[in-house]
Amino acid sequence: MLGPALSTARIVVKRLLKTALGLPGMFLPRREPCVRVLFYHRVNPYPVAKLGPVSREITVRPEEFAWQMAYLASHGFRVLSLSEFEALRADNRQPSRNSILISFDDGYEDNLLYAAPILKQHGFPAVVFVVAGFIGKESSDVLPYADERQYGRFLSYQQIEAMLAQGIEIGSHTISHPLLTSVDSPGLREEIKGSREKLEEMFGVKVTSFAYPGGDLDDRVEQSVAHAGYVTAFTTRTGAATVTDRMTALSRTEVSASDSRLVFRMKLRGSLDWLVVKDSAPIRRLLSLSNRLLMPLAKGAS
Ligand SMILES: [Zn+2]
Repeated sequence: MLGPALSTARIVVKRLLKTALGLPGMFLPRREPCVRVLFYHRVNPYPVAKLGPVSREITVRPEEFAWQMAYLASHGFRVLSLSEFEALRADNRQPSRNSILISFDDGYEDNLLYAAPILKQHGFPAVVFVVAGFIGKESSDVLPYADERQYGRFLSYQQIEAMLAQGIEIGSHTISHPLLTSVDSPGLREEIKGSREKLEEMFGVKVTSFAYPGGDLDDRVEQSVAHAGYVTAFTTRTGAATVTDRMTALSRTEVSASDSRLVFRMKLRGSLDWLVVKDSAPIRRLLSLSNRLLMPLAKGAS
């Protein structure tokens, strides 16, 4: 059981680190006006041992997600839909203070099973960035460090229809979730424009928004997204989406397993936004090296 234990230890260390790092941020001035775009991956109560090492870190438990949504509802946050967010940006209007957009990457089935009912309770809209080629599949079919079967399912066609019926919007997260900076130009067109066309054809909705897998982008990738006709595109760069951000390179605030309730409140306040320094190229390389070294260990003995 070294695997789950190692994952749990990593989550505990990250939680402590985030709290420590959020404290100095509380004294920094708040940047405004902005919309804080929260991004989640998974919301479920599955046993840790059934989840792969990546899922363990990106899974928020339903009771925590419920607490987070109740916190937004009771503290005057205004949750925008993607369409409202895009209209605001298009008209150059200032967002009201405490505006939030809720997003989910990858399109896991648990978004519908566990997150959607909680969003519905509060009447909160959201956007799910779907990987077009993962629809109806298991993570073990398509990803390294995957989950046990049945614990890593992606939304099926019918489940996405059900989500759309609830008013949750969809965006594109490519066809196969590659790191886009290493994809050649024809492949880039297929992953970016092709995924949009595929989703629009399947579901009969307009797909106006894109999320970069792993937050991996450069000028070439960003231009390809703009040429494909997307209105907005979201990175994983830490921070709030300010009015000065490019529409095709919007910052977001990740919420994961290692976010305590205190850290969640710090993130809403922007106290951890200064960690944008970790998105610099050398630190990103260091973090990905640490993941490459630790993930096989976390998987190994599970
Ligand atoms: Zn992703």
